[in-house]
Amino acid sequence: MLAQGQRLHHALLLQGGKGVGLPELALGLAQTLLCERPSAAGASGVCDSCHLFASGNHPDLHIIVPSVKDSDDAASPAEEGAASEVVWPSSHTPEITARGEIKVESIRQLISASTLGTTRGGRRVVVLYPAEALNAVSANALLKTLEEPPPGMLLLLATSEPGRLLPTIRSRCQVVNVPTPAANAPDVLAWLAGQGVQDAAAWLALARGAPYAALNLAAQAETLGITERLAAWCTPEDSRFWGSGNLKKGEIRAWLEWYYRFAAHCAELAAGGTKVTAWMGVSAAQWQAAAQRLSPAGWHKLLAAITRSLRAAEHPLAPALVTDSLLVHYSDLLAAEQGTQPDRSAHHSVGRR
Ligand SMILES: [Zn+2]
Repeated sequence: MLAQGQRLHHALLLQGGKGVGLPELALGLAQTLLCERPSAAGASGVCDSCHLFASGNHPDLHIIVPSVKDSDDAASPAEEGAASEVVWPSSHTPEITARGEIKVESIRQLISASTLGTTRGGRRVVVLYPAEALNAVSANALLKTLEEPPPGMLLLLATSEPGRLLPTIRSRCQVVNVPTPAANAPDVLAWLAGQGVQDAAAWLALARGAPYAALNLAAQAETLGITERLAAWCTPEDSRFWGSGNLKKGEIRAWLEWYYRFAAHCAELAAGGTKVTAWMGVSAAQWQAAAQRLSPAGWHKLLAAITRSLRAAEHPLAPALVTDSLLVHYSDLLAAEQGTQPDRSAHHSVGRR
């Protein structure tokens, strides 16, 4: 994509699916563009510029991401659905979770910085992600820079939701489509295995082929103890069923998404048609037993309840209220359909470990 000597448009818009690695690609491109000794394979990794880049202090690299929102703030309704989980490469801004909006102040800072020459006499590269987080004001502030960037400035915008960009932003950029690899691409599987992901194929399938999404899901599952939770949800008479404790506010959405995957998997198995196999560390026998606990209609009632909670997950009153009410709902559905009653007495001793 970046052949030597090739003339680049001054503003590129990288677009592709969530989790295919857009921010990583934009940063890799930025490093190559700033590198003093680039080759066809990309940045050298050893020049002064690459060292500055690796330290996260390159003076000619300008990264624009949404402002970090205090997790205790109530999200405004306008931001609902705008939030997207991003794991920003850790050498840069590890605290960035890319929630919220790119504020006009960030664009103004860029404009005022760009009136100064570049520190190292070469290019100045701007990475802006996710571009759909630009609000109307910040997008308009960026237009003039996109139209007439200062000499040497190159802008790399990236988005998974190009339809949410102002048409005037899109039309000023050269669009580069980033494909999603096939879900069984051997090099992607090898790369995931190299990152320490076990059973890479299952994670890649769950992430619909998006490599970075697969990596993030596997890491998230480990942090949240997902295999243990899935096993407990499959066996609700076990007191561990109630172990929703210790969730942090920021983890509620991930918990809900996993609970949704659990119920969706059971609904699919209950409806028949899918062969029961071991999945996500839970045995085929456990899935088989779990799926039979509710009718397909029962599973869909639970899914509907989880979906409602997901919509409100950006501003939960208390994580435990959300998770526990869904577990109670599951338990009530079980009781209604087959009279099993999970042992709720264990709730307070186990639920707040
Ligand atoms: Zn270099």
